[in-house]
Amino acid sequence: LVEIRGVFKSYGAHEVLHDISLTVEPGRVVALLGRSGSGKSTLLRAINHLETIDRGEITIDGEFIGYEIRGDRLHELPEKKVLQRRTRVGMVFQNFNLFPHLTALENIAEAPIALRREGREAAQERALRLLERVGLSDRAGHYPRQLSGGQQQRVAIARALALEPDVLLFDEPTSALDPELVGEVLDVIRDLARSGTTLIIVTHEIGFAAEVADHVVFLDHGRVVEEGQPRQVLRSPRHPRTQEFLDKVL
Ligand code: ATP
Ligand code: MG
Repeated sequence: LVEIRGVFKSYGAHEVLHDISLTVEPGRVVALLGRSGSGKSTLLRAINHLETIDRGEITIDGEFIGYEIRGDRLHELPEKKVLQRRTRVGMVFQNFNLFPHLTALENIAEAPIALRREGREAAQERALRLLERVGLSDRAGHYPRQLSGGQQQRVAIARALALEPDVLLFDEPTSALDPELVGEVLDVIRDLARSGTTLIIVTHEIGFAAEVADHVVFLDHGRVVEEGQPRQVLRSPRHPRTQEFLDKVL
């Protein structure tokens, strides 16, 4: 359960998130839409504490990632603790961000070994199963540069799954891909959605969002201007900003 309550964030005088609240129940899929600069990435990054916030609260199953409550105040946690807690949230970026010097298999097994002290063999065995799940068991020994963008992104998804996160965040996972490779990545995400993984997806693939999302949130200048069922928000938006955005991307 992801709970975002009254979140504000500014960079200097520039307010990037304004009073954002959102609850994501387990197994739900939320699509986050909005123009460039509307604050989508900042919000995603705030969820796993890659970005701090100025006001409000974000918790995963009731727990903060970057803080703990002592007395009645929030105290920042040391980096090591933050890394531990961050494993509850998986993240997949636009540019894959795989470790270039590790094979596909090693990329996936790395975090379980380093952060969970799993045995190398057990971690690699599980990594292989995750590669199967994303259709890449024959690429285990390949380095990222030997893989297509779509294959790299599927490895990145498998890597994000390796720590069995409570929620998976996708930040425009297909934006950097050649058009013919988009489908294979969306297929994997669709499978995750169907299998009950909790997902928050930033995407410009409106058709895909309409298909997999339970809930669509439209951000504009750091504010939620419209949210609801995909059918309503995407087919008959009430807010002119949403309409304008949809006219542009469709
Ligand atoms: P895009 O669709 O282009 O990825 P976005 O909706 O993800 O856009 P953000 O990356 O969240 O938008 O950025 C929101 C605003 O915050 C933008 O105006 C951006 O310039 C600004 N911003 C983001 N990161 C920083 C930073 N580290 N320092 C200053 N301003 C920032
Ligand atoms: Mg972004």
